[in-house]
Amino acid sequence: MRAAVLERAGMPLEIKEVPEPAIGPQDVLVRVHACGVCHTDLHLIDGLLTTIGPSPFPLIPGHEIAGVVEKVGDEVAHLNPGDRAGVYWWLSCGCCPCCLAGQEEVCLQAMATMRAIGITRNGGYAEYVAVPAAYVFPIPEGLDYADAAPLYCAGLTVYGAFKNAGLHSAHRVAILGVGGLGHLGLQIANAMGAEVIAITSSEAKQDLARQLGAHHVVHASGHDIGTRLSDFGGADVIVSTTLDFQAIREAMRGLAPLGTLVIAGMAAGRLPIDPRTFILSQQRVIGSYLGSRRDLQELLQLAARFQIRPMLETFPLEEVNLVHQYLRDNKIRFRGVLIPNEATV
Ligand SMILES: [Zn+2]
Ligand SMILES: [Zn+2]
Repeated sequence: MRAAVLERAGMPLEIKEVPEPAIGPQDVLVRVHACGVCHTDLHLIDGLLTTIGPSPFPLIPGHEIAGVVEKVGDEVAHLNPGDRAGVYWWLSCGCCPCCLAGQEEVCLQAMATMRAIGITRNGGYAEYVAVPAAYVFPIPEGLDYADAAPLYCAGLTVYGAFKNAGLHSAHRVAILGVGGLGHLGLQIANAMGAEVIAITSSEAKQDLARQLGAHHVVHASGHDIGTRLSDFGGADVIVSTTLDFQAIREAMRGLAPLGTLVIAGMAAGRLPIDPRTFILSQQRVIGSYLGSRRDLQELLQLAARFQIRPMLETFPLEEVNLVHQYLRDNKIRFRGVLIPNEATV
């Protein structure tokens, strides 16, 4: 089969002919029809993983995988060849305290070993990928492969942030950043019934934010984000998808009493918190990473029912290095998706 292989960190990927992966009794082989390209893939190429331990190379990256089940192992009962399906890529252990608490996204085992499809195990930048069947789910009717793929990481990350914040339909939620995560977040929050505020530094994205489901748009210029949010009555939930720490600090001032600020984008910096405000308003600041398989199933249903669709550009597998360059140059609106096999169903 054809695959884009990362021989080692720092190298461009090479399109190679490699053996089709074998499957065990509890695995499935997925014929990949779409694989989203995530910023994490760039971190992988840049050697970030190598600095914290595992050296998985040579590796086939790609963890936003949607396709068709080609083969199933002898012990697999919930999938059949021909099923349209996608892959939950974070291979949680199922038995640590976090997994047992229903929060497998912070699985102690998976965190310690980075046990994940497309990160330390071969992923979806290939015609086929072999994965444990327990991590593979059908794609609902109405979602095509390219539209589904980015939901498995980008979409799940924002949906998980909303879940962790306890977002519900009586809430006002502000989403900081209208990019790969934020443009999905606006649609998802709207589908969840919340009042949605988009915060963006880009004039050009203001109309787009409204089209995607924002009821209000706040232009993140200067120091008035918190004041603007307060003008609306404050945000019950603020989800940050940006790397702009100044904007996060500003937005935090617009958090309502009992409000939750969720950091879902990997921003680096320090967040000053005035304990007096936080005590008297009983506010929370939390981190959020991905989501669980249950969250993913909910999100897929939500996406099918409310026409949540990523804005994306598709590319053949051969153009993988070009897509990575576009992503580095901030030229992708808003998700690049590789198509290793053209879909027939
Ligand atoms: Zn990702
Ligand atoms: Zn676990």
